Amino acid sequence: MSKLPTPKPWISAIHAYVPGKSSGADGRPLIKLSANENPLGTSPAALAARQHAADPARYPDPDSKALRAALGALHGIDPARIVMGTGSDELLNLAAQAYAGLGDEVIYVRYGFSVYDIAARRCGATPIVAPDADYGSDVDALLALVTPNTRVVFIANPNNPTGSFLPSGEVARLHAALPSDVLLVLDQAYGEYVAPQDDDGALALAAAHDNVLVTRTFSKIYGLAGERIGWATGAAPLVDALNRIRGPFNISNTGQAMALAALADQAFVEASRLHNAAERARFVTAVEALANHGLRPLPSQANFVLIEFSGKLTAEAAYLGLMERGTITRWLPGQGLPQALRITIGTAKQMDDIARALAEMAEAAK
Ligand SMILES: *Cc1c(COP(=O)(O)O)cnc(C)c1O
Repeated sequence: MSKLPTPKPWISAIHAYVPGKSSGADGRPLIKLSANENPLGTSPAALAARQHAADPARYPDPDSKALRAALGALHGIDPARIVMGTGSDELLNLAAQAYAGLGDEVIYVRYGFSVYDIAARRCGATPIVAPDADYGSDVDALLALVTPNTRVVFIANPNNPTGSFLPSGEVARLHAALPSDVLLVLDQAYGEYVAPQDDDGALALAAAHDNVLVTRTFSKIYGLAGERIGWATGAAPLVDALNRIRGPFNISNTGQAMALAALADQAFVEASRLHNAAERARFVTAVEALANHGLRPLPSQANFVLIEFSGKLTAEAAYLGLMERGTITRWLPGQGLPQALRITIGTAKQMDDIARALAEMAEAAK
C-alpha cells in the first residue's frame, strides 16, 4: 500500500462547525430562526450600493481603506488599529494561530461559541474549557485555569448560544487579572444589540491595553451574513500580526461597497436593535408563562433566546414540533445542550406563532 497524505492529528480531532439549517429533512424550505440573522434583512442603502460595487474583474482594495476609515470614524478608532476579516470567523482563527500553537493553551467557557474550539485545535493548541455559571461566563472559573501555557482567552459577549452577558465590571476584572502576555479576545458579534447604557467596555479596553483584541461583524445586526465581513481592533502589534496572515484580498468588492453603505445607515441599525429588544422581551414573557411546564428562557442580551426544557416537553420534541409547523430553530446536543433550544428573534408574527406552538406542545405533553 502506498502511503497517503495524513492530516495532522490535531486537525483530525476537529469537529467541523455545524451551521444553522434552512430546510427540513424532506428538503422543504422553512422559516429560518437557526442562524441569528437579521429578520429585517439588509439596509436598503446597502442593497443599492451592491449595484455600484467596483469592477468584478479587478481585485478588491486589499486594505479595505474606505471601509476601515468609516469604521474608525463611527467608533472613534484610528483606522490603523482596524483589520478586516472574511467574517469575524477568519479573525478568531487568525488570533489563535498568531498567538498559540503546539503545547499552548486556549481557554474559553463551556457553552462558548463553537468556533473557539476549532480555532484552538487548528493551530495545534490545547482547548481548555472553563465551567459555566448557570450557562453564563464565570470570570473566577476562567482565571482559575490560567497557567504559564495560556496564550489566548476567548469570550463572546453577549455569548452565543446562551445569550448571557458579562457586565463591564466583570470584563475589566477578567482583563486586570490576566497576565499581560495572554491575549484576551472579546468577541462582540452581538455587541450592537446591547443597549448603549450596558456597554461592556470592550472597545475601550482594546484602545487602552496591548493584549485585548475586539472582534465585530457585519453578519448580525447589519444583515450582511452572506457577504462575509468582520473586523477587529486592538493595539498596533496585534493588528500587524493579523495583517501578516489574513487573506490578502479578504473582503470582496461587493462586500466593501455594501458594508460602507450599511455603516452609513445607522437608522437601520437602530431600528433593528429596537425591533429585537421589543420582540425579545415579548417572547421571553410568553415563554416565562410556560414555567410550570419546565420551560425557562435564559436572560439574553443578543438576538436570540436559549430556552431550557426540564418538563415533559423536551427540547428535542419542541425542535421537531416547530419544524413540523414550518420553523427551524437550533437544537444543540452537539454542544452539550440537549436540554435547550436556541431561537433567533424573528418578526412579531413569527415569534407569536412560536410562542403559541410551544404553549400547545407543552400542554399536549402534560
Ligand atoms: C455569528 C457569530 C460570529 C460572526 O461570524 P461571522 O464570521 O462574522 O459571520 C462571531 N462570533 C459569534 C459568537 C457569533 O455568534
